[in-house]
Parts: sequence; structure tokens; C-alpha cells
Amino acid sequence: MTDRIPIAIIGGGVMGLAVAYTLLDRSEQNIVLLEKNEGFGLEQSGSNSGVIHAGFLYETGTLMATLCVEGAQLLYEFCRKHAVPHQQTGKLMAATKKEHQNELEKYLKLARNNGLQDVAIISGKEAKKLEPCLEVSSALHVPQSGVFDASFFVSTLYKKATAIHNTPDLLMKACNVVRVEPYKDFFRLHVEQSRGDTPTWQLDCEILINAAGLYSWDIAKMISPRLPYEKQYLRGEYYQFNRRYDLFIDMNVYPVPTLVVLPDGGHFLDLGAHLTPKVGPDERGNTSVAKEVLVGPIFIEVHNPQDYRSTTDRSEFYQSVKSFLPALKEDDLYRGHTGIIGLIKDQKDFIILKDDSYPNCIHLLGMESPALTASFAIGRYVADMIT
Ligand SMILES: Cc1cc2nc3c(=O)[nH]c(=O)nc-3n(C[C@H](O)[C@H](O)[C@H](O)COP(=O)(O)OP(=O)(O)OC[C@H]3O[C@@H](n4cnc5c(N)ncnc54)[C@H](O)[C@@H]3O)c2cc1C
Repeated sequence: MTDRIPIAIIGGGVMGLAVAYTLLDRSEQNIVLLEKNEGFGLEQSGSNSGVIHAGFLYETGTLMATLCVEGAQLLYEFCRKHAVPHQQTGKLMAATKKEHQNELEKYLKLARNNGLQDVAIISGKEAKKLEPCLEVSSALHVPQSGVFDASFFVSTLYKKATAIHNTPDLLMKACNVVRVEPYKDFFRLHVEQSRGDTPTWQLDCEILINAAGLYSWDIAKMISPRLPYEKQYLRGEYYQFNRRYDLFIDMNVYPVPTLVVLPDGGHFLDLGAHLTPKVGPDERGNTSVAKEVLVGPIFIEVHNPQDYRSTTDRSEFYQSVKSFLPALKEDDLYRGHTGIIGLIKDQKDFIILKDDSYPNCIHLLGMESPALTASFAIGRYVADMIT
């Protein structure tokens, strides 16, 4: 059986859903989204830190910087409007050594250049007023940063997208795109369906959006075998602790980031194991920071995108945060979740591009952090590329 549709999206993580939402919102109803899993957002979009990034960590003028700053505002608006649990906690980038001062100044400058005027360097004393359990010599205070419930967000995004024209059938689960054949003016997708009575079928589309997350590189290679990029996977591992009176953290607290060079020469900006309060309803049902605080992620390179094991020793998590959270004991930490992130080697920005040979295909490659924060801005960016 072969169906035909103007626009197909591969992948039902936040990227695919945000693109679908934007297109449907612009009255474009001729779309289909195909997600291989039994639910939406079960890969990167469901196993992250849930931080709403402000956008000060990225070079001015990059897609990461502009789409993150714009996307954070849109995300807060959406969360407020649709009761997605979130909190604008603010963030502290904690300096614990003298040489960190220069780094804080560098990030302050970046923040200002990226349009975040109320970011400021504050003293250790001022930081202590905001977070009494922290021991820092100074900190960068970023009021725009926050936390949200990313899984709740994904399900709300799906519901709102399908409600625009009452078209739940357009966003399909359990549909694995196993092969893509590019033709001059259309793409043929071979789909394996793990539900229903049509186990295999084909879909022809005129425009294809490749938002397949960890597998977007593989989909891109089916269309352009000579794609000039290389994929890479990092597994982010977390521990967590429960808040108590002497471990009372309710802001996002980050160390000063470091540039990590991998054994094969690749590199990435490691934000360092940080403290992220989870968000959830309190006893009265109001959203607030929950009792659990995430510590992590600590990233290690993996070669299998399904390798969700947790292998980093608890002591490493403890060592990485004890300098600014002295009340924490190693025994306070218990194992949290893991998540795999798909990168493009040596790229410092999102790669959102029209395929060289088939310009009706748009690839979203290496959609690493802060893509979750930037999702609505990315949705608009991609929709603009089509229309
Ligand atoms: C540990 C970790 C921490 C992070 N923390 C943050 C954070 O705090 N803030 C932030 O902004 N960002 C964060 N990120 C990044 C963020 O989670 C990702 O950028 C974002 O979720 C990427 O969304 P996506 O839709 O591209 O990918 P995914 O969520 O992986 O979605 C891709 C989807 O495509 C589907 N798919 C793949 N191949 C096929 C196929 N052949 N057929 C059909 N469907 C297919 C998959 O099943 C999947 O559901 C973090 C990521 C990780 C891993």
C-alpha cells in the first residue's frame, strides 16, 4: 500500500512535535509524523535534565544562542498557558577558585551580547542569600533559567498539536521508517508498523523533515550517502539527593564549564555535573520544586544509542559538586536516570539544513542541549524554511 502526503516528519521527540505543532498552527494540515516507539518523546526528550536554559552559554549569532533565547520565552509562555509544571528558578554559575573569575566575566559578556541584560556577577555573600547551602567565592546569576517537567511537556505538546484541527491520526506512533528512497520530486518512506493490521506500508511525500534524534544521521545517510558529518553518542548519567534543611537547593547551580577533548580528538563543552531541582506538584497541588535534586549529568562516550547503563561511580558525582555544596555527603546520593545524547562530531551549533542533493528534505542533526529549551523557536525556524 502506498499513501501520498505533502509533508512527512520522521521522529516524535520534541523536535518533530514542535515542527508539527507550528505547521498545524499555521493551518498546514497536510502532514504526517511518524514515530517508531509506542509513545512520543521516549528518547532524548524524555531523559534529560529538564532545564530551561537562558542562552548565555553559546557563541553570539549561532543558532544555539538565538533559538535558545527566543525558545525559552516561548516555552515559558506555553508552560504557563497549558499548566505544564515549571518554575523560573534562576541559575547560579558557581566560582570556587580564583581563576574562575575570568570565566564568569567571559560568560557575563556572552550573556549581554545574547540579549540577557539582567545577568550579573554576584559575590559569595549575595549567592549565599539566594542559596544558603552554597559555598562559592562569587557566581554568575542568571534569572531567566528554570526547570520544567519535560515528559509532561511532550504529552501536552502532542495533545495541543492534534487539537488544533482535531487530527490525532496525523501524528502516528509505532511507525518505524526503515528505509527512505529519494526521487527527483518526492521521497518514498518504507514504514514498519508494530500495531494494527498493516505491518508494512509506504508513504510518498514531497517534503521530508528528518527529526529522528539519535538516528537522524542514519536517515540523512539514506538520502545523502556522502554526508560530510560524523555522529557521536554521549551517555549522560545522574545521581540525585533529597532536599533537607541543610541541603536546600531550589535554583539551578552549575560549576564553571570546561572544554573536554575526547580520545579521538573530538570535543564538547561539558557544563559539569550540576544541581537541578526537579519540579512537581506540592502537597496543595501547586507546582514548585520537588524534593529531589538531580546531580549530573556526567557524560561518557558510548557507541550504542540504546546503552542506558549507569557505570559512573557515585564518588565522581560527589567529588564534582562537594566544593560548592559542602553539606552533601556521598551517602546522600542515590542513582538517578541516564540519557543518551546524539552529537555531530566537532560541531558547536545545531545543524538544520536542506539536503545538498534533495533540497525538499530538511535534516535536524546534532540537536543537543539546548534544543529542548529552543523547541518552539526551532519549530518556527524549520516551518519558515518550508514556507
Ligand atoms: C542527558 C541529557 C540532558 C539534557 N538536558 C537538557 C536540558 O536540560 N535542557 C535542554 O534544553 N536540553 C537538554 N538536553 C537535550 C534535549 O533533550 C534534546 O536536544 C532534545 O530532546 C532532542 O529532541 P529530538 O526530538 O531531536 O530527539 P529525540 O527526543 O531523541 O526524538 C527523536 C525521535 O525520533 C524517533 N525516531 C528515530 N528514528 C526513527 C525512525 N527511523 N522512524 C520513526 N521514528 C524514529 C525516536 O524514536 C525519537 O522518539 C539533554 C539531553 C540529554 C541526553
